This record gives sequence, structure tokens and C-alpha cells, in this order.
Amino acid sequence: MTANIRNFCIIAHIDHGKSTLADRLLEHTGTVMNRDKKEQMLDDLELEQQRGITIKARAVRMRYKQDGQEYELNLIDTPGHVDFQYEVSRSLACCEGALLLVDAFQGVEAQTVANAFAAMEHELHIVPVINKIDLSMARPEEVAEEMMNALGTDPDDCVRVSAKTGIGVDELLKTIVAKIPAPSGDPDATLQAMVFDSNYDDYRGAITYVRVMQGTVRKGQKIQFIRTGSQHEVVELGQFVPQREPCDTLSAGQVGYLICNIKSLGDVHIGDTVSITGDKHAPALPGYSRPKRMVYCGLFPSDGQDFSELRDALERLAVNDPSFEFEPETSDALGFGFRCGFLGLLHMEIIQQRLENESNIDLVQTAPNVTYEVVNKRGETVTIHKPQDVPDPGDIEEFRQPIVRCNVIVPGDYIGAVMKLCQERRGIQKNQEYLGANRAMLTYDIPLAEVVYDLHDKIKSCTRGYGTLDYEMVGYEPADLCRMDIMVNGNRVDALSIVCNRADADRRGRAVAKKLKAEIERHMFEVAVQAAIGSRVIARETVPAMRKNVTAKCYGGDITRKRKLLQKQKEGKKRMKAIGNVEISQKAFMAVLSDG
Ligand code: GDP
Ligand code: MG
Repeated sequence: MTANIRNFCIIAHIDHGKSTLADRLLEHTGTVMNRDKKEQMLDDLELEQQRGITIKARAVRMRYKQDGQEYELNLIDTPGHVDFQYEVSRSLACCEGALLLVDAFQGVEAQTVANAFAAMEHELHIVPVINKIDLSMARPEEVAEEMMNALGTDPDDCVRVSAKTGIGVDELLKTIVAKIPAPSGDPDATLQAMVFDSNYDDYRGAITYVRVMQGTVRKGQKIQFIRTGSQHEVVELGQFVPQREPCDTLSAGQVGYLICNIKSLGDVHIGDTVSITGDKHAPALPGYSRPKRMVYCGLFPSDGQDFSELRDALERLAVNDPSFEFEPETSDALGFGFRCGFLGLLHMEIIQQRLENESNIDLVQTAPNVTYEVVNKRGETVTIHKPQDVPDPGDIEEFRQPIVRCNVIVPGDYIGAVMKLCQERRGIQKNQEYLGANRAMLTYDIPLAEVVYDLHDKIKSCTRGYGTLDYEMVGYEPADLCRMDIMVNGNRVDALSIVCNRADADRRGRAVAKKLKAEIERHMFEVAVQAAIGSRVIARETVPAMRKNVTAKCYGGDITRKRKLLQKQKEGKKRMKAIGNVEISQKAFMAVLSDG
């Protein structure tokens, strides 16, 4: 049974043709008919197409006939961004092989290397594939050699294809069958399946993606998730072809989905193990870890009425993406909202965009921050998820921030630029090593706050996209940090507090004060906008008092016009928040928060 199954993924640097190749494979195996094929079948989330990256892992089953035998090919799609490393590793753990796809013109790039190493760590069989051989500028010989130098693949093993025209795709399918090992596993053993993804369907609840390692799961069976201990009945199971196709059983080696009427977001954890209920269940599969939220921000509806709608939307997202978490938060400035935890910056942007696309709530987002630790004067260590919780300077014994170890893989020409950037971001160099003739790996310890701020984007731009960044948590270290507050007529605006290095406080304080001043409308009195550390003011801007009465220009004659104007003012007020006696529009907060 398992002898005819092949489970594999495609790993590639962005734009090397992963999605296009997936489409061609679906087409050549007849999984998708030409007439109803849609460009980039696998990236069906609109957002993914917008960003051109694959955010969530997916799986598609193809049937492929060769020499009178029918094979089941499962293509598992993996996310490609550092924020989702954990999900990548869970997807790789479901495969026996990987197609390592490299653009015949661009050659080996940093993400190729990072992903190839991850696949090798999982002991996957690597099929080297050179794509875009239809391009007149293609240089497949050289690229095959680069692949050999960087990754140790044999140039003779490289399959040359054009995902665009379809050249070489048949040969690639033959190679997949011939070279990628069939899964091992006993369909009669105790059920043991790995959860490698999940998403949420409004009608069916959580859809759990699994790879069965041992045993068989059947429709109607009672199962349990080993890590959480929760138990459920399997009401439907099947495979993606690419739409859902129900079946009666999934056995060792197969990849598919389970539907168990799971409405609770906490029940499906990526990396968890599915087994039978009772004491005789299979052991949990290794490699499970709880997602680490590295970045936090506050999300508030601009209209307070939308609070429960926002909560529902966040709950839906959390089912779809268990690595995202949220809890209610109250802000003087922004009202009722949620403090949300993310894996990283990109993850945060994605959640925000999904919220906007999938619900109609207007959102205000506070500047992102990392988690800090403060040791207070009583010697207690306090963990801090939001800047306004940082105690006053007099009560701080030690202020600690998370440090991450960053590996940056870059072509030789860009080493200098990356080193300069990492130093500017308070990085401490730990290592430098050549991976190939023209490819180096730089290792730095850098404060996570600096990485979160924009390091990834900056590395991309200073290496023309060739540099990749990977990081892991090292721990918390003391630093000269402070909480900077923004005061409006002497009242602190909680949503605008930030944690920053003391050396940067003056510059950042001036920038925020200036920006906020420009956004505050004139009042009958003067409004002072200040930036302060504790009681020490470091920047001040003043909004002058207003003189004219708004209704004065109505000349008293046109009463309906006057009423309309007053009505309009009243509506405008709904979107205003009072800070002391000063009214600040939602728009002003947004303008200030939008660039940290
Ligand atoms: P992904 O980011 O790896 O998923 O890459 P895509 O599949 O989105 O492809 C990136 C770009 O390369 C698209 O514009 C594709 O049309 C193009 N492309 C993909 N494969 C080929 C190919 O074999 N030949 C040519 N000429 N273009 C290709
Ligand atoms: Mg793609």
C-alpha cells in the first residue's frame, strides 16, 4: 500500500517558480483539468497572491500512472518566511523528499540554502531541479555547479524543467517516483498521525491537516490529540484534490484532512499527534513546540461598537492560525481592544490584513513591541507585554530585553553592507563563515526589538534580495532602556508609550511630538504635546488656541445648514477620544502609530 505513495514538498527561493511548478504537476497528473485551471492553484488566499509568498502549508493529492502502476503523490506546500520556521519544520517532517527548485538564471540564493539545509536536517531525499530553462539567459550548467558547491548535489541528478512551458515536467514526475523513498509505516499499527496545519471552515469548523505515520484512521472513529488530551469523533476525513474529497480511511504514509466538529481554537495544535483514545495510544511524535510569540501590539476597533465583532474575527483567525494569540486590553486613548501576540512582524501584518479583508472593522494598531523583563527595586522580575506597564524609572533595578542569534546568509559582495547594518542595530558579531565560493554566513546577536523594527526588510534591500535572515532566541540581557511617554496637556496617552534605548529617546520623542501636534485640531485653549521619560520632559510642541466659532460662518440665516453642520460635528465627536480636556481624533492616533 505505502509502496506507491510519495510525499514531497517544493523548496525554493521566492520567485523561482514554486507555485508555477505546482500548477504544472497538477495539470500533468490530470488532477486539475486545463479548462478549469486557475493560475497558481495552491495559493488560493488572495492575500498570498498579493504578497507572492505562501503563508500556510497545504497539501494536494495527485494520482499518477506509470508503467501500469498507479501512484499517489502528495505535494505538501511549505511557508517560506522566517516567521514560520516552525510550520516549515512540521511540513518537512511529513515528507520523504523535497524538490529543490532553483532558477536557471538567478542561481542559488540564500533562501534556497536555508531551506535545503532544513530539508537535509529532516533527512529528506533532495531532487535538484533547475527551472526556467526556456529563458534565453538561462545558464543551467553553471547553476548545477553552484548547487553542487553550496549544497553538495550531483549536477548529473539535476532535472531541467520549464514550469512555464511544461518542458521536463514528465521527466520530473518519473524522477519523483524513482528517487523519493516511499513512506514506511504499518497500516495495522496503533494510529499515530501528525498535525502539520489547520484552518477554519465556517460551516465545518477546524479542518486538521494530518500525515498518518502509523496505523489507520477511519470515519466515525474516536481520536485524541495527545498533547492537549482532547477527544473527538472523526465526522469526515479525506484528501485535497485540490478541493476536499472525502474517503473512509487514511492509512500509514497518507496525507489528508480530518473534520471533527472542533469549534474551540485551543484544540488543534500544529505538531500535535493524533492517536486512539484510552491508555494504549501511540506516543507523541517528537519535535513539538509551542509557538513563540515574539512581537506584541494592541488592536482596537476605531468604533467602540465593533468590539464584539472584532473579538469574533480574532477568534476565527486564531482557529486558523494557532500561533496567534490575543487577550482583552483597555486603553484610555483607544478604549476596549485586544493585546495580540505574533510570531514576528510579517505574521502581524498578515493577521492585520486578513482582519481587514475578512471583516469590515476599521482598526487602530499600536506600535509593535517585544516582550521585556524588568527587575524592580524589590528584586521581583516582571514580564512586560506592553510599554505602558513598564514601572517608573525610580522603581527599576534592571531592564532586560530579548536577544536573538541571527544567521544571515549573503553573497560575498554584500558582506560589508550586512555587517554595517548589524552593527548599527546594536548587533555583536559571533561568527563568519564561507558556505561556498561566494556565499557567506554571518552570525550576530541582536536585540529582537531591532530585528522586529525592520531588520529583515533592510537586509533584503541592502543585499538586493539575496540575503536571508534566520533567528533564534538566545535569552534576556540587561540594556540601557527606558519607557518614553507622550503627554497631552500633562496627561499620559497610554497607547503612545514606547520602550526604547536611552540614546534614541530624544530623537524618537521629538519625532512623535511633532507628528501628534500636526494631527491635533485646535481647541479653545493651548495644547501642549510633550515626550517624557518619567518626569523629565525631553521634547515639547504646542498646538495654538483656536479663535473662531465654527457656526459663525452660517450668518444665522440658514437654519438647516446650521443644524447639518452641528450634526456633522457630533458624528465627528464619536471618533474622538478625550485625553484630559483635549479631544484627539482616531485619525491622529493612527497617523502617529502607523510608523512606530
Ligand atoms: P514562487 O514565488 O516560487 O511561487 O514563483 P512563481 O511560481 O510565482 O513564479 C515567479 C515568476 O516566474 C512568475 O512570473 C512565473 O510566471 C515565472 N516563471 C515560473 N516558472 C517559469 C519558467 O519555467 N519559465 C519562465 N520564463 N518563467 C517562469
Ligand atoms: Mg508562490
